[in-house]
Amino acid sequence: MTVADTLTPRAPTTRPAWLGTAVSPPLDHFALLWALQQSLDPVELLALFSRCLARHVPIEGLGLTYPEGAAQTGDGGVHVSDWPLVTRGAEVAVLHVHSGLPLTRPELAVLREATALLAQPINNALSCERLRRHAQEDALTGLFNRATLMKMLPREMALAEREGTPLAVLMLDLDHFKVINDTHGHGQGDRALALLGSVLHTTLRRSDLAFRYGGEEFVVVLPDTHVEGATLAARRIAARLREQAERELGFAITASIGIAAMPVPGERACDAERLMTRADRALYLAKSQGRDRTLVA
Ligand code: GH3
Ligand code: MG
Ligand code: MG
Repeated sequence: MTVADTLTPRAPTTRPAWLGTAVSPPLDHFALLWALQQSLDPVELLALFSRCLARHVPIEGLGLTYPEGAAQTGDGGVHVSDWPLVTRGAEVAVLHVHSGLPLTRPELAVLREATALLAQPINNALSCERLRRHAQEDALTGLFNRATLMKMLPREMALAEREGTPLAVLMLDLDHFKVINDTHGHGQGDRALALLGSVLHTTLRRSDLAFRYGGEEFVVVLPDTHVEGATLAARRIAARLREQAERELGFAITASIGIAAMPVPGERACDAERLMTRADRALYLAKSQGRDRTLVA
């Protein structure tokens, strides 16, 4: 259960006598602004806003759409009205107000006042979310960065161990990348890295995780995957990389890939560092055996 769940208002199914009439309490701007300073999480903000608004408007749920995604709190309702959230003349998001009943004029007036106060806090929360996401990502490829791998891999391994499922790691290094830079220029080199990012993005399953580990080294974490599945995934990545690079960049790119998986028969526990070292060893072997191949540790 999230904070948002606990804060979701139980909107009335029928409007109380005072709601939306001249005797309904005026919107308390100070209380609303105070509430909206309590969080920088878009979903929590929606829930806080929803709780304040429920005193004035028979809402059953709120939705928010913004350039990168959407958020929701509450159960929804048959009547939906859309409220653009505008700060400094720019629309930052759209609030969708779900109600079980059509809204009255005084209720719409309250919503107009309230959404004007919501726009800036939502903009702050969305900016914060963007900063958080950028801190986890590599700008060139759009993949997660090394720091994020170090946080996520132990978590994924602990989950696999608890659930008794396998997990595999691919360590991938582009072959002779220095020569590619020297021959085709650094710009084409960057494009090749971005292309690999895109190949990983489109080839892997949604539950798989791809990271740019360093310059031209990448790591892929495949939850619920045995060595056999990981080998297939590695071959598919290598084949698509070669084919798309030839088609889109005009030259071939190959990769050497090392695979390590857990659990290891006869070994009780495996830590992230050891798993990565094994994958790195397999990668080193793939390089020393001539590159453009996949080997298992
Ligand atoms: P090997 O097959 O042994 O892996 O050879 P390699 O040339 O790929 O390996 P090496 O480690 O000698 O060189 C890696 C190259 O990757 C050198 C570096 O300039 C390049 N590189 C690292 N990061 C970037 C980047 O962000 N953009 C570009 N264009 N090149 C990068
Ligand atoms: Mg390298
Ligand atoms: Mg390399």
